[in-house]
Amino acid sequence: MLAARMQIRLRDLERRPVGTAEVDAAARPPRIEVRAADGSVREAFLDWEQALDDSGCLRACVACRCPELFRRRTPIWFTPFALVLAAAGLVAALTGHSSDPLVLATLVALVVIDVAVLAFVRARLVCYRCGTAYSGMPIARQHRRWDARAAARVAAGG
Ligand SMILES: [Zn+2]
Repeated sequence: MLAARMQIRLRDLERRPVGTAEVDAAARPPRIEVRAADGSVREAFLDWEQALDDSGCLRACVACRCPELFRRRTPIWFTPFALVLAAAGLVAALTGHSSDPLVLATLVALVVIDVAVLAFVRARLVCYRCGTAYSGMPIARQHRRWDARAAARVAAGG
């Protein structure tokens, strides 16, 4: 799960949606295929120079090179994985297997890990300039929530 590929919701410089793509950020592909909402596929070019920091976190928009990105959290829902585990835990409890503390501890640990990974994956970065959104990758701590001053700076061509 931690090796999840980066998902990009690409927008053009007029902030019009172009489509979505999955990218292996470690490979830094300069050319990707983007699938539009109508199912058509088109090419897009990404600029990875200066876009990743030493720990592989995104620090600039690879679509328009804007260095201003903001963090957006989407609601955290239990994944199907966690739900299956919860059901398994319930069955274990009903059938008497829950008396084994190791089984319960493992279940709890897995659910905790799953939720933690989900919280980490669900945060996305959005470019101030073009609105392209990135998810599924580690986010550097310097990125903050949407900020009016940063937005004004970008709008002014900064
Ligand atoms: Zn951008």
